[in-house]
Amino acid sequence: MPKERYTAGKNRGDLQLGKRNRHHSPGVEWDVIVIGTGLGGSSAGESIWNIQKIIKEDNLGYPRGGAVAIPQTILDGAKSHGAEIRVGAEVKKIEYSKGRVAGVVLKNGERITSRAVISTTSIGDTVFNLTGSEFFPRPYVERIREIKGSWSAVQAKIALKKPLIKSGSIVGGIPLKFDGAINDNLAHDFISNLEEGIASDMVPIYAPIPTNYDPDLAPEGCQIITAGAAAPTLDIKLRDDSSAWIDGLMRALYSLIPGLKENIIFCDTWSVKKISSWIGKMSGSAVTTGQSVKQVRGSRPEHHTPVKGLYIAGDCGGYARGVGTELACQSGMDCGDMVARDLYGDSK
Ligand SMILES: Cc1cc2nc3c(=O)[nH]c(=O)nc-3n(C[C@H](O)[C@H](O)[C@H](O)COP(=O)(O)OP(=O)(O)OC[C@H]3O[C@@H](n4cnc5c(N)ncnc54)[C@H](O)[C@@H]3O)c2cc1C
Repeated sequence: MPKERYTAGKNRGDLQLGKRNRHHSPGVEWDVIVIGTGLGGSSAGESIWNIQKIIKEDNLGYPRGGAVAIPQTILDGAKSHGAEIRVGAEVKKIEYSKGRVAGVVLKNGERITSRAVISTTSIGDTVFNLTGSEFFPRPYVERIREIKGSWSAVQAKIALKKPLIKSGSIVGGIPLKFDGAINDNLAHDFISNLEEGIASDMVPIYAPIPTNYDPDLAPEGCQIITAGAAAPTLDIKLRDDSSAWIDGLMRALYSLIPGLKENIIFCDTWSVKKISSWIGKMSGSAVTTGQSVKQVRGSRPEHHTPVKGLYIAGDCGGYARGVGTELACQSGMDCGDMVARDLYGDSK
């Protein structure tokens, strides 16, 4: 496949070859073939790199204790080095004084001074809402204005009276059968609908079953499903009611999992608006600097900002790679090293 098609993000009908058949099934060359990558403006090269990494390293997993175990581990490490953790402390303003960052002001009015501030909200929120664009050079502000986030998702967290699914995760969707040929036009129609705020009849879903990795997450004999389906970010004007995306996700789950309705103990659903208010980022993007063609590797915003002492980290910036959480964690560690070097020199 010509390299130009990857780099241009025009990758209709592409194939990725995953991992050569390790189980030596007769006449089978590969373990996994992934059809189509880099849809909807995402970088095909980065998608391939990410999926190849997952398959080559066999590192798709679920953290014991739930997703919160990831930040908790990092916070425990920070605490052991003397960090003080403040939760529920919303930053209203990043303060600037005498050509550099001076600290932050919290929603309750408290002012905390510091030599460095690392912001992990979206870069747009950091520049426009928390600091103020007047403190940044105009070309930087223009560049940040152009940054695109990924799509968002609606979610359902479902508790079941008994296990219905044996696998670690369901990746599928509705319709269960297609009348005509399955081709990449279906995916492209789905994406244009998403970008125009129209809910599609085709609903691809992704549903990990956390209790199949970590049974301690539910009472014995019960099962938890966490399911998600792509949905428009808050900056997209919706032509369908926002509930249509949650309805689509639930329709897909009921079609894919026989016995689901009768076995639900509770089902919490999350709209994009709810997720956005929860993560505190303006558009509700799943990855706030999306891994699109001009926003990967060295083309991502760097940790240093033009405001001395102000850094960005997490999924909004830094040259890290990987999927969502992996990208954000690596970015945080890279940024931490950089701040330590800047503040204390190479000896620390
Ligand atoms: C619906 C959805 C599904 C996803 N699914 C997956 C998945 O399956 N796998 C995967 O790897 N990734 C997934 N992601 C992506 C992943 O969650 C993010 O990329 C990752 O959490 C980003 O980490 P972060 O530290 O950059 O930002 P966050 O985890 O969002 O952390 C930023 C923190 O900053 C806080 N904050 C924001 N503004 C302020 C403020 N003004 N003052 C104080 N605190 C503030 C927020 O409350 C938040 O705690 C998903 C994301 C979403 C939204």
